[in-house]
Amino acid sequence: MTAVGTAAARYVIVGNSAAGLSAAEAIREADPRGEITILSDEDRPAYSRIFLPDLIAGKIDFGRMTMRRPDFCSRLGVDLRLGQAVTRVDVRERRVELAGGRSLAYDRLLLATGALPVPLDVPGGDLAGVTGLHAYEDAMIILERTRRSEDGPGSAVVVGGGPVSIKTAEALYKVGQKVTVVVSSPAILSRTADALAADLLARRMDEAGVRVLTGRNVATVEGDRDGGVKAVVLDDGETVRATVVVVGKGVRPNLSLAAGAGLKCGRGILVSPRLETEAPGVYAAGDVAETPVGGRTVVNTMWPNAVAQGRTAGHNMAGAAEDSPVSIRSNAGTFFGLTLATVGQTETRPGQTELVRGDGSAAAGGHYEKVILDERGALAGAVLVGRVDSVGFLRWCLSRGVPMDRVRPHLIEPGFRYSAVLAQAPGRAG
Ligand SMILES: Cc1cc2nc3c(=O)[nH]c(=O)nc-3n(C[C@H](O)[C@H](O)[C@H](O)COP(=O)(O)OP(=O)(O)OC[C@H]3O[C@@H](n4cnc5c(N)ncnc54)[C@H](O)[C@@H]3O)c2cc1C
Repeated sequence: MTAVGTAAARYVIVGNSAAGLSAAEAIREADPRGEITILSDEDRPAYSRIFLPDLIAGKIDFGRMTMRRPDFCSRLGVDLRLGQAVTRVDVRERRVELAGGRSLAYDRLLLATGALPVPLDVPGGDLAGVTGLHAYEDAMIILERTRRSEDGPGSAVVVGGGPVSIKTAEALYKVGQKVTVVVSSPAILSRTADALAADLLARRMDEAGVRVLTGRNVATVEGDRDGGVKAVVLDDGETVRATVVVVGKGVRPNLSLAAGAGLKCGRGILVSPRLETEAPGVYAAGDVAETPVGGRTVVNTMWPNAVAQGRTAGHNMAGAAEDSPVSIRSNAGTFFGLTLATVGQTETRPGQTELVRGDGSAAAGGHYEKVILDERGALAGAVLVGRVDSVGFLRWCLSRGVPMDRVRPHLIEPGFRYSAVLAQAPGRAG
């Protein structure tokens, strides 16, 4: 092995996205001489998947989705190999095998291979026009299918009620599709928001003419003569016309390389707090990693988490010994005109305290805010609708376990500003 700090170390990163890129930057900060190679099976420059619904809606073009300037590689001295799939990792020989038969040696390896959409596992689920939304190519399939209908507006079915599904439903609505959202849970956003916020959004969707069918599943997908989707049949027998079906039933960490290499996996690749696997010199970060948090392990498939973990992994690959930052669930966005943000827990558990301002109605100025405090008086989570500018601050409070007890009586007062918490916060920011 090339010793880090003596001869130039060979760093190989699989995955050219949020985690992989921030790892490359962190390695370069710590090691000006190391050889950094990024391998990606995608053949286009790194882009933010978050904007795929906006691409479908015609709000942006691909150029605005790219994540780094074109001179990124030359500036950082990174060997970026696009369209280069890794087919196997040999952790004993410390080599990765590439499609086409070549291989590459590493001293430190990062698996930042992300997560893939859960497929629709029903008869007809593989028809043309049934797709997840994970990559640029998926967005192109969706757009192509929306242009197919000759008799009036096309019809789209979105399967799943999470934030990505709702954003996709909104994009399809904006390009003139008749949209139906099919959700197996009793409500949309069942794992993201609380019941009131979900209901406020469902009402917005209803007003826009988007059908939301809860407690239902797709039983089969029917095809047309060309092998493309024509309709979905639900488990209650209803048939819904569709020229495109977008499957948003969540994602699964992309474990194929890790499993083939014999690395320990749960839902994701199991790593230490420093994001190391049990194989020497092999790290994992981002959507693919399962990290320890307070006695259990979690997979957090959110962008800021992938960036933060990539950074930590990069530093550690170059010789540091940092623990990965606390993994916090947080969502924010505007859906059908409703601005919504959540941090941590969204439903209150026994023994916890719930503080509420407003109910999202017109009388409350469209505002709703629920703050959950744990048994010790620290923030456990929050749901914000309407005015969400405190979300970043709440995320900060949650990540540091900032006590809220002194400001607690004021939390539900109109006009309360969270900056008041700073005065009593240990190790205050800035
Ligand atoms: C439509 C959509 C909307 C989203 N919206 C939000 C949002 O609003 N907020 C938020 O926080 N998160 C959002 N996310 C999630 C966010 O995009 C992910 O958390 C983030 O992309 C994870 O980054 P990553 O680097 O771990 O993996 P990925 O971005 O999945 O990248 C993994 C990379 O590895 C490559 N790869 C995989 N296997 C191989 C191989 N064998 N060889 C070579 N290369 C390989 C892949 O091609 C890919 O380029 C959204 C995701 C989608 C799809």
